[in-house]
Amino acid sequence: MRLVLVGAPGAGKGTQAQFLAAHFGIPHISTGDIFRANLKGNTPLGLEAKKYMDKGELVPDSVTNDMVKDRLNQGDLENGFLLDGYPRNVAQAEVLRAVLAEKNTPLHAALELSVDSEEIVTRLSGRRSCPNCQRTFHVVNEKPAVEGICDACQTALVQRDDDKAEVIARRLEVYAEQTEPIISFYRNEGLLITISATGPVNEITDSAIAALSRVK
Ligand code: AMP
Repeated sequence: MRLVLVGAPGAGKGTQAQFLAAHFGIPHISTGDIFRANLKGNTPLGLEAKKYMDKGELVPDSVTNDMVKDRLNQGDLENGFLLDGYPRNVAQAEVLRAVLAEKNTPLHAALELSVDSEEIVTRLSGRRSCPNCQRTFHVVNEKPAVEGICDACQTALVQRDDDKAEVIARRLEVYAEQTEPIISFYRNEGLLITISATGPVNEITDSAIAALSRVK
């Protein structure tokens, strides 16, 4: 299964991606996670990306597309992949289509997680993330067993710099201006599947799996 996840920041792409990747036995490729790992390792890519991430802006396409092409050339994608956070604009969607066409491995679907905008702000501002394993929690809706500590690896949770109120507003503007048009792009390609992404996490996963099982 070759899949992209589409949806606003805070729609739950990262959470659903983990479950869907495990269900289909495919790697979860999150461009945000790759940038954050580079940032943690102080690599030149991480330092470049930080300039944009801290402001809620997109990292330039030249940087992002090359990084994704490298990732898609690694040898672990024979069962497919799940891309999360990429593409983020129509130009990236076109690059992805061309890269996959060259390999003769087109996408099977673009799964849109649809959530109201008020709900998005609540989710993002209460989100707490594990800087070690990237798992996310929520101060009200998805509390860890021990306050402030990651259930999976016991690392202290943090609020991502870009989940702070000023940056959230800009990320949502960037989403509306640059990312939302990819929904029409994938609808025109006949690849779009939209599911509602409010309610319990496991029910959203179940409806995603049910919708994807109908994909040829
Ligand atoms: P995310 O974890 O997907 O919300 O991504 C966090 C930040 O990383 C975004 O706000 C962007 O600054 C950057 N980023 C992630 N994916 C992309 C992408 N496909 N294109 C450009 N910037 C990206």
